[in-house]
Amino acid sequence: MRVPRGATHLECTGTGERYESEQLIGLSAAGKPLFARYDLDSIRGMFTPDEVTCRRADLWRYEEVLPVRDPACQITLGEGWTPLLEAPRTADRLGVAKVWIKDEGQNPTGSFKARGLGLAVSRALELGAEELALPSAGNAGSAAAAFGAAAGLPVHVVVPRDTPAPILEEIQALGADLQLLDGLITDCGQVVRRGVAEHGWFDLSTLKEPYRVEGKKTMGYEIFEQLDRRLPDAIVYPTGGGTGLIGMWKAFDEMERLGWIGSERPKMFTVQAAGCAPMVRAWERGETHAEVWQGASTYASGLRVPGAVGDFLILNALRESGGGAVAVKDQVMRDWVQALGADTGVFAAPEGGATAAAVPILKERGLVGEGDEVLLFNTGSGLKYVGMTPID
Ligand SMILES: *Cc1c(COP(=O)(O)O)cnc(C)c1O
Repeated sequence: MRVPRGATHLECTGTGERYESEQLIGLSAAGKPLFARYDLDSIRGMFTPDEVTCRRADLWRYEEVLPVRDPACQITLGEGWTPLLEAPRTADRLGVAKVWIKDEGQNPTGSFKARGLGLAVSRALELGAEELALPSAGNAGSAAAAFGAAAGLPVHVVVPRDTPAPILEEIQALGADLQLLDGLITDCGQVVRRGVAEHGWFDLSTLKEPYRVEGKKTMGYEIFEQLDRRLPDAIVYPTGGGTGLIGMWKAFDEMERLGWIGSERPKMFTVQAAGCAPMVRAWERGETHAEVWQGASTYASGLRVPGAVGDFLILNALRESGGGAVAVKDQVMRDWVQALGADTGVFAAPEGGATAAAVPILKERGLVGEGDEVLLFNTGSGLKYVGMTPID
């Protein structure tokens, strides 16, 4: 039996306070992200790996743990169920037992932003939003534009002027209203907030509505299925706003409640750019929240995120998993884009290069060992960064 059920309610990640799920909503009253909660006990036994295994090859295969109730509102462009590639030459190069690359560059619009925005736009459509808006470092903007077009909803995108040119062209070709700003994603957020106040736009900013994280969490379910029903020893994730890392961490908890896994978890590692590393700095200082990074600069535009509303959720996942956080320079990311490409045939985004670049540092610090099986996230296609050069 396959019944799309939707969430039972939303829960504040700060205070635990409950909220009604069938309404357009942003942050909780405490200013924290809201998580969708499901009646997992009642679907346990029905929503199983055996049941899911033959389903459609996109993220809607997990519909019981997704929030959209009406199948007509499941807006899809084929997002999710991306290849998990074994990379033996990269494993040799890095001196670990195994390396897999989760190639999110093969999503619609060339990045894993398609997962989150696919869900957020579907749900906004279902709940009656009429105009959508978001600040973006680039890829979220093109994903929002794509799903807005597919849903027939107008989208306003505000991005820094120096966003990679291929992404700007893409956003325009997908019919969105594009505004360029001299500044960072945080400055773009202020323009969106003004549009929300003046024109009633619905704000799709990372973790400021509850459903982008629901799209990204499907990566956790997928990894488990694609590894023949187990999880890797370590996951290295290029972290901006952290939605994917927070989402996978949420997925693992759900999977435990559903009986798919036990209490085991991969070590979760954040990698950021040396020129914008607020989570790494907070991690090294042992803090629970991250201060905003001043003067953020890196050619990995997805990592040029000086502050994150989900900072405490990221840091908590790193701590609970026995993981950690490291920063790498742009030049080193670029060298690893080259090495990954030649080793595997995957033309990675700089953010993907960063994950491989993190491994030697993690090994040196004893956080990853020679016997470990490591999963690297290539979060986007290198084609989206053509013409961009390392800054440091
Ligand atoms: C947005 C983005 C990231 C960061 O993702 P978060 O979930 O916001 O941390 C990493 N890589 C690419 C290519 C991105 O577009």
